[in-house]
Amino acid sequence: MIEKVIPIRLESGAAAAAPPWDGTPPRDALARPLRDLRISVTDRCNFRCVYCMPREVFDANHAFLPHSAILSFEEIARTARIFVGLGVKKIRLTGGEPLVRKDLHKLVALLAPLGADLTLTTNGSLLARQAPKLREAGLQRVTVSLDSLDDATFRRMNDADVAVTTVLEGIAAAAAAGLAPVKINMVVKRAMNDHQIVDLARHFRGSGHVVRFIEYMDVGSTNGWRMDDVVPSAEVLARINAHFPLESLDPQYAGEVAARWRYRDGAGEIGVISSVTQAFCRDCNRIRLSTEGALFTCLFASAGHDLKALLRGGGSDEAIRDRIAALWNGRSDRYSEIRTAETARLRKVEMSYIGG
Ligand code: SAM
Ligand code: SF4
Ligand code: SF4
Repeated sequence: MIEKVIPIRLESGAAAAAPPWDGTPPRDALARPLRDLRISVTDRCNFRCVYCMPREVFDANHAFLPHSAILSFEEIARTARIFVGLGVKKIRLTGGEPLVRKDLHKLVALLAPLGADLTLTTNGSLLARQAPKLREAGLQRVTVSLDSLDDATFRRMNDADVAVTTVLEGIAAAAAAGLAPVKINMVVKRAMNDHQIVDLARHFRGSGHVVRFIEYMDVGSTNGWRMDDVVPSAEVLARINAHFPLESLDPQYAGEVAARWRYRDGAGEIGVISSVTQAFCRDCNRIRLSTEGALFTCLFASAGHDLKALLRGGGSDEAIRDRIAALWNGRSDRYSEIRTAETARLRKVEMSYIGG
């Protein structure tokens, strides 16, 4: 049964002051460093992907956040600067669809000087127009989601009548603007788009872009996830390997989400993200800042930690820093390693709200 979106539960961060940060890079309870900050800049989207924002839930009656509730660009940039001071090396803008947030390039311009690797995940539908100004503002790369090259399948999945060509134009514009190599995310859902796996691999072979095949995940509470709908990455690799032989590549850095493979004939590489069948919590160094300023230490969290009260209540940079460090030091999340049919039914926060 498809459920309605759960109200977000927030642990208050303003009331109790955190102990002062001791100056050492935060390590969580499982000794994982804090490296990767994902910022959701909007909970809105112009798509209604069936696995993320099913239209029957995210309909005309769905209450998106009012503008007054969402962090301003200045508030986001201030928070990001504090994160970089704590050791964050990578910042990814996401959502919802980040390119529906007005003047996003202005946020990019505020974040670029922080010196972290700066990227964006987008559905690509608005990218063709925005790619040059995002690049000029200092964006380094983009990841574009594309679940099928077959128009009917793609429209069925985005449920917003957007054509494949629109996204392909976005990818081309991004590459032309210098936001390359482009990563292309395909969420694979059995009996919906798994017939497109080899087609996507074939299309982008030799292009310099890297397709990443993502196992369909039990994020949120509204997508009606079932294990039967997951196509394990091992099967994805076997199907591609039968056409284009592959060999594995070493990770580029600890905590890399995608396992990398290259075509033996030198036509480039692909990745697989196996959150369901081969959990990678062991090295997870990611934290998420939601659109309205709450921190989530796991994609599958059921509660967030309010930072906005500090940001808007006169909290100093040091107080915010101490709060983040204390939160990370106490973190022990490893949801994908302990996933069961029961946990999949738990009420979790929606991915469109905390950012993918
Ligand atoms: N709107 C942007 C987009 O689609 O690229 C950014 C946000 S989206 C939530 C980030 C990524 O999460 C996308 O690549 C999307 O395909 C992926 N995603 C969303 N729901 C998912 C699910 N249930 N399982 C696996 N990946 C999912
Ligand atoms: Fe929108 Fe991205 Fe979710 Fe699709 S996956 S509904 S494009 S936020
Ligand atoms: Fe990280 Fe949570 Fe995903 Fe594990 S389940 S990899 S802890 S976000």
